Amino acid sequence: MTIIDGKTIARAVREDAKKRTETLRAQGVVPCLAVILAGEDPASVSYVTAKEKALAEAGMASRDIRLSAGISEAELLSLIISLNEDAAVHGILVQLPLPKHVREGRVIDAISPKKDVDGFHPVSVGNMVLGKDGFLPCTPNGIMRLLRALDIPVNGAHAVIVGRSNLVGRPLSILLTRKDSNATVTMCHTGTTNLAYHTRQADILIAAAGKAGLITGDMVKEGAVVIDVGVNRVSDISAKKGYRLRGDVDFEPVSQKASFITPVPGGVGPMTIAMLLQNVADAAEKTRDA
Ligand code: NAP
Repeated sequence: MTIIDGKTIARAVREDAKKRTETLRAQGVVPCLAVILAGEDPASVSYVTAKEKALAEAGMASRDIRLSAGISEAELLSLIISLNEDAAVHGILVQLPLPKHVREGRVIDAISPKKDVDGFHPVSVGNMVLGKDGFLPCTPNGIMRLLRALDIPVNGAHAVIVGRSNLVGRPLSILLTRKDSNATVTMCHTGTTNLAYHTRQADILIAAAGKAGLITGDMVKEGAVVIDVGVNRVSDISAKKGYRLRGDVDFEPVSQKASFITPVPGGVGPMTIAMLLQNVADAAEKTRDA
């Protein structure tokens, strides 16, 4: 059994983004991501901080925009319109979730597809579905990169995805069924009857449900590749922060059956950030070449 070292694989992607940034800077272009955070949700603050640190390490600039949780939808939309027009900004990232009174769809739709480095805009999603050039969402694309980096056979494999969100499960199903991936995909959700029956068929099992320990040892086939996307805060008074991060997979028993498994943290998470840097580099290069 191999524990997949997402940090090491992500480092190679980040190094590549850094080299591309050096070239861009030498050509007078400083890749820049506008990062918008509305409110002070602790998990969102830590994600934004990690992304900005990674951008700085790659030599990229970030425009750190912190807003109060009370910001109106109209104010947020006009901010995005001004960033769309700002030539020094190559990518726009709106940290989700947004405050409840703001419609996320409206905000995402307002981002120029040319700056949609999260890959959530309907134009980006459409391009992905049609196999056209465009930004791919970072977590699913990061999972594809992990599988490729480890030479895990995807062609002809049966991939079972637990979770159908627009962020992870659904786009991953599209990437896995592209002709150049050629997996057969089963998608599970809360309407799935007998989840274990499906997960046990998986050559590649991807857990993206956001439920700590949902996937237990008896739900996994011997030799399966297990990718745990879940990041769940589980209270633990012995931990410094009062909680521990746990994945959707019950790691100990599942690791005894899996051929490959991602840990939480240190598996998929680092890949998500690395693919974001790659998308920002892509966006800056497109501006340069326009
Ligand atoms: P989400 O929007 O809440 O979607 C969860 C999906 O899982 C839904 O489709 C839901 O089904 C399904 N689901 C929930 N409980 C289930 C169950 N018991 N059986 C079968 N299906 C179940 O979550 P998300 O945004 O996709 O995120 C999923 C997890 O990944 C979260 O823990 C999140 O923190 C983590 N995540 C990690 C990264 C990373 O970089 N590591 C990035 C993004 C997300 P329904 O559609 O029927 O409700």
